[in-house]
Amino acid sequence: MAVNLQAIKDEILGYTVSTEEDLEQFRRQYIGRNNMIAALFAEMKNLPAEERKAYGQQINELKDAATEKFSALIAQLEANGQQQQEEHPDLTLPPRPDALGGIHPITATRRQIIRIFERVGFNVSEGPEIEDDWHNFSALNFPENHPAREMQDTFFIEKKPDIALRTHTSSVQVRVMEGQKPPIRTLSPGRVYRNEAISARAHCVFHQVEGLFIDKGVSFADLKQTLYYFAKEMFGQNIKVRFRPSYFPFTEPSAEMDISCLICGGTGCNVCKHSGWVEILGSGMVDPAVLQNCGIDPEEYSGFAFGMGIERITMLKYGIKDLRLFTENDVRFLRQFRSLI
Ligand SMILES: [Zn+2]
Repeated sequence: MAVNLQAIKDEILGYTVSTEEDLEQFRRQYIGRNNMIAALFAEMKNLPAEERKAYGQQINELKDAATEKFSALIAQLEANGQQQQEEHPDLTLPPRPDALGGIHPITATRRQIIRIFERVGFNVSEGPEIEDDWHNFSALNFPENHPAREMQDTFFIEKKPDIALRTHTSSVQVRVMEGQKPPIRTLSPGRVYRNEAISARAHCVFHQVEGLFIDKGVSFADLKQTLYYFAKEMFGQNIKVRFRPSYFPFTEPSAEMDISCLICGGTGCNVCKHSGWVEILGSGMVDPAVLQNCGIDPEEYSGFAFGMGIERITMLKYGIKDLRLFTENDVRFLRQFRSLI
């Protein structure tokens, strides 16, 4: 009996495999249900009592040897496979796709807006997001305690109330006018802040692009023509545009610009609240007092300014219903914009 067991042990230890089938064969023979070792174990009851202990011990050793060998065979087979792949790579396999990211839709829209205005001579200016009262409010005709400031409530530092997070990128325009002689044609894109509750339509952090054009003899006709051009380039040549009178402290006269609804084409739907129109930007002729504040003579120069929210333009362009999606970093949302450049 003992000789028999030794022979089986030698067989187990000397086993070699070169395919998955060989491995399965080994498993069936020594590990799986109804394997040969289990059958030997069952024979123990036929032995005289004094031989049983030694026999049982040998069977257990056999079992351990089989389990150990099985792990070794799996590892050997894996190693063989890897080596084979290195020596003979399968050239017919499809290439592994590069894990490239995409451009965030806000970035894509910002770039598109900039490209459109660059073609008519605008450059890009940037400025600080932490602003002082003068550049964000006072120079732009927001007198202290004026209700217009309430429209743009932001984040202040209690101990230094002169410092705030900018509520618009108009503050950059002030800096440009202070430091540059007209003609000025500039766009100021960037992040802005307002003290707003976060919802599907509002956020305390968002992005704007503002534009400023100052030269001799700039009129409201120039404003309209520039913004008509922008709307058609951005949303398509068939888009309709209208201006509505509005109020901003830093422009006079002021107007909001609507475009015909992109969803229903003007017949009325939920997005346009059944009016057929959606607002895309605010604009107006720069108030002479603002020019004066920034060291530009309003008798000699005039100009227009406009501003739009990049989130709003992006939502209209791609039919996005919730502003919060832009900052949630959900790749399922972001992947939909992978083709944008
Ligand atoms: Zn509509």
